[in-house]
Amino acid sequence: MRDTSYDIIIVGSGVGGGTVADYLSRAGSGLRIAIIESGPFRKKEHFNQREIDMTALYYNRGAVLSENMEIGVAAANTVGGSSAVYTGVSFRPPESVLNRWRREFGMEFLTAEYVNRSLDEIEEDLNVHELPEREDNENNRLFRKGADALGIPVKRLKINTKGCLKQGFCNLGCTSGAKQGTLEVQIPRVLKRGVTLIYNAVVRTVEENAVNLVVRKAPENTIPNEIEEGGHRLYARYIILAAGTLNTPAILLRSAKKLHVSNPNTGRYLTLHPAFNINGIYTKTITNYRGFPKTWYIDAFSDSDGFYLETSFYFPGVTAKNNPGYGSMHRDIMRCYSKMMSILILIHDEAEYGNRIATDRRGNTVIDYTVSDSVRKSMIRALQESTKILFAAGCEKALIPGSDKTPVLPEDVPDIHLHIAEQYLNLTRTPLSSAHPQGGARMGTTPKHAVTDISGKVFGTQSIYVSDASLFPGSVKVNPYETVMLLAKWVAENVLEACLH
Ligand SMILES: Cc1cc2nc3c(=O)[nH]c(=O)nc-3n(C[C@H](O)[C@H](O)[C@H](O)COP(=O)(O)OP(=O)(O)OC[C@H]3O[C@@H](n4cnc5c(N)ncnc54)[C@H](O)[C@@H]3O)c2cc1C
Repeated sequence: MRDTSYDIIIVGSGVGGGTVADYLSRAGSGLRIAIIESGPFRKKEHFNQREIDMTALYYNRGAVLSENMEIGVAAANTVGGSSAVYTGVSFRPPESVLNRWRREFGMEFLTAEYVNRSLDEIEEDLNVHELPEREDNENNRLFRKGADALGIPVKRLKINTKGCLKQGFCNLGCTSGAKQGTLEVQIPRVLKRGVTLIYNAVVRTVEENAVNLVVRKAPENTIPNEIEEGGHRLYARYIILAAGTLNTPAILLRSAKKLHVSNPNTGRYLTLHPAFNINGIYTKTITNYRGFPKTWYIDAFSDSDGFYLETSFYFPGVTAKNNPGYGSMHRDIMRCYSKMMSILILIHDEAEYGNRIATDRRGNTVIDYTVSDSVRKSMIRALQESTKILFAAGCEKALIPGSDKTPVLPEDVPDIHLHIAEQYLNLTRTPLSSAHPQGGARMGTTPKHAVTDISGKVFGTQSIYVSDASLFPGSVKVNPYETVMLLAKWVAENVLEACLH
């Protein structure tokens, strides 16, 4: 190891970690910064769009199951974090959410002026834009057709690509580096500025001014380690935890004794933005697996029924998991892969004390999350409305969890509330997932309700900050990466201020 001492150590190289590193290392700061990342270092040259290989980018191949097995959470374990596998759909936090965060959690810095100025700059940096409609693939066109036929307003999604080749499987890593995520933008930028990146390095615990980590062997076909394998201890004036919602709370829980901090809110108020991906079978072959997967969304049911709908399309293994049935029935469904139309349902869940990231006896992450009654109701409403869209778009069959039959047919639509109903929703037998975990180290004004103060510093510590989605005091209710970047910028400003004193 060349250096063991830094001004700032950032734990995690994902959206929160990469962004905070970018702001901290901007010209002239002169700070010695290291990023410690548990995953391997893979660049676009290491991606191949093959599901069997690329699910290695994720924890547990893409589904970390909750204790009760009701929901599988996707998060990446690789340099760039989940930006390496995200789709790049770009939302600003809704005004209603910001109002609540200001009012109930004291996050008064989130003024319209600060949010707009920061996100204007971030969106320009990442080339956030709408794709021209003429570039939509069939899946997106059919979504619009179905919604139009039902009189449901659709809105255009913004995405952060540059030179996209429309390969279709953004969530397997982009081989052309078109997604302007942390892996492509902030990580190369901070490396040029002299920030040290240590990968395959799992942080087990932190103490005031010290980080304890274990460096593991680099997996095959990834960039080799630059430091020796085994345990290391590094020192810094400030330590910023950016290991994501699944891991920042777990690091804090493992470190509670060493930090002399025991805050009962650590890990609590987890939200998952639960998602179903449902498929319909169209009348003819459509090439939905090519083209940009997401260009439209519907927020018309957000306030009344608690859900968003987005276009989406997934690779064969994940599509197989999302479809109902077993054996020959399931095989026959999957034979229709190239006729499938697909919709992503995202349900707004509320932050509840009982939903949390905990740790097992070895200190590893445990997801303790129960789907609430109101989320179940939203799911049923969302499944009913999405099924109607599939048929209004021209699908012949719909493959719907929470229904009394497979497939659901167009003639079932008049009685859809009888066929898709809560009594048929068995969450341990349906593929509920999450790619938007949030909370667990929530920001607030007092340790009675939060884990960090308004600057992002962990209550009861001198040197430990958080900069990732675990800061969210409640669900942001839209795809979250822009909000993670916004909070990371704010935390960077506070850490810079602290460095000057
Ligand atoms: C498949 C998928 C698609 C998505 N699509 C979108 C989208 O289109 N739009 C959108 O807004 N959001 C999307 N998201 C969500 C978005 O990627 C996340 O909200 C965002 O990345 C969260 O940022 P973060 O910094 O909290 O965590 P991450 O970006 O996940 O970064 C955490 C990093 O910490 C590392 N780490 C964890 N534990 C340790 C440890 N102990 N020691 C060292 N390092 C550690 C991890 O390996 C990881 O690199 C998607 C997510 C997934 C999984």
